[in-house]
Amino acid sequence: MHPNPIDKTPSFSNLSLAEQLLSAVKKMGFEQPTPVQLQAIPLALEYKDLLVSAETGSGKTAAFLLPTLHHLLTLPSKKSGTRALVLTPTRELAQQIFKHCQQLTEFTELKTGLITGGDDFRLQQNMLRRNTEIVIATPGRVLELMEQEIPNFSNLEMLILDEADRMLDMGFSEDVLTIANSCNKQRQTLLFSATLTHFGVIKMADKLLADHDVVALNTLHDGHRNIEQQIVLADDNDHKLKLLTWLLQNETYDKALVFTNSRIQADALRGPLRGQKLRVGVLHGEMDQKDRNRMMDLFREGEVKIMLATDLAARGLDIKGINLVINFDVPRNGINYIHRIGRTGRVDELGLTIALVKHTEWNLMSGIERFLKQKFKQRSIKELAGKYKGPKKLKASGKAMGGKKKVETKKAVAEKVKVRHRDKKNIGKRRVPTSKPDIIETS
Ligand code: AMP
Repeated sequence: MHPNPIDKTPSFSNLSLAEQLLSAVKKMGFEQPTPVQLQAIPLALEYKDLLVSAETGSGKTAAFLLPTLHHLLTLPSKKSGTRALVLTPTRELAQQIFKHCQQLTEFTELKTGLITGGDDFRLQQNMLRRNTEIVIATPGRVLELMEQEIPNFSNLEMLILDEADRMLDMGFSEDVLTIANSCNKQRQTLLFSATLTHFGVIKMADKLLADHDVVALNTLHDGHRNIEQQIVLADDNDHKLKLLTWLLQNETYDKALVFTNSRIQADALRGPLRGQKLRVGVLHGEMDQKDRNRMMDLFREGEVKIMLATDLAARGLDIKGINLVINFDVPRNGINYIHRIGRTGRVDELGLTIALVKHTEWNLMSGIERFLKQKFKQRSIKELAGKYKGPKKLKASGKAMGGKKKVETKKAVAEKVKVRHRDKKNIGKRRVPTSKPDIIETS
């Protein structure tokens, strides 16, 4: 039985972690474990495979690093090769985990290495040959190194998949499976994802985890209680630009992150904002690594207080002091929305997020609200009031349907799909007229 975390005052010393790790945690100023740490660490210390849903900013990195490091410290190994591998979707996130790991290993002899694209291949080869115990990596570069037969994961003890939902969304599914299949089968695997409602994540868990526990902590519907979420309606992109400029000039914030759905849009906003004497940087996936790093440093150090970014570039970004996130474009789905607003209001901070919504985006935004089971606060900016006030027939259309939305049952949807499938198979075949209802295929 695991001690019930509710029954005792949460503290790191109750988690039975190695002394060196407790000293590091203390030095980092962590006073007590966050909920995900409290729940995942004891299970991981029992060598259980885990599927954990934890939102960004919840302290999930330490939730997987601490038990991993504890295992490595308490069971020294004489075998060669990497002992723990953390796979993560982006270079920025890998760098952050690497730094976090270096802090946590400060009082140990354990060595941590970083493997990401864009950095020196040969240095990474050498690092792996030196049997660095913990490797933090993005999947692409690991595969390249595997082609040269350099990494040795045959004695791997821990495999951690961080932000697995995002790795899948970014198309890394096959890469992750290839890497995982090259790893020691007796390893322990921890799979972290912002959401468990991602079908691919569940499939991946089925493939890669042995009999496992699920820590469903921050499901999407828990909401982000330390983030105030607002909507401002806009007529068009020109109006949005005026609203954005006003917000950046009038809101109080340390750092602001502005999201667009495309690189082109991010680039297009830079000029006009600079024209208004706002110091802005741009971060997107097509910039080369050096420029991205430089931008991140400027933002981190507060030289640049406003960053225009696309989803890919900002994924996992953990920069202190981001307390304003503006969605210039409404994100394409609820998961992206979560990841964007997850950049603000981390652990103890408070944040404000504002979505600029034009009429073509209204349905998308309502879909996100429904998905999150939350209603965002609608705000108007007097100085820049626009014409668009939301859909006109909102109430009337509700009444027309008897006040209820038309909900397709699962069965009805499944039947439609099957009928469509059957129709496809029958293309070119003569259809025999029948008065009977369509027969639903069962296989
Ligand atoms: P993460 O979700 O791992 O990206 O962590 C978000 C931020 O919370 C990072 O800046 C961590 O250093 C910080 N953090 C993690 N665990 C704790 C804790 N127990 N107490 C205070 N801050 C923490």
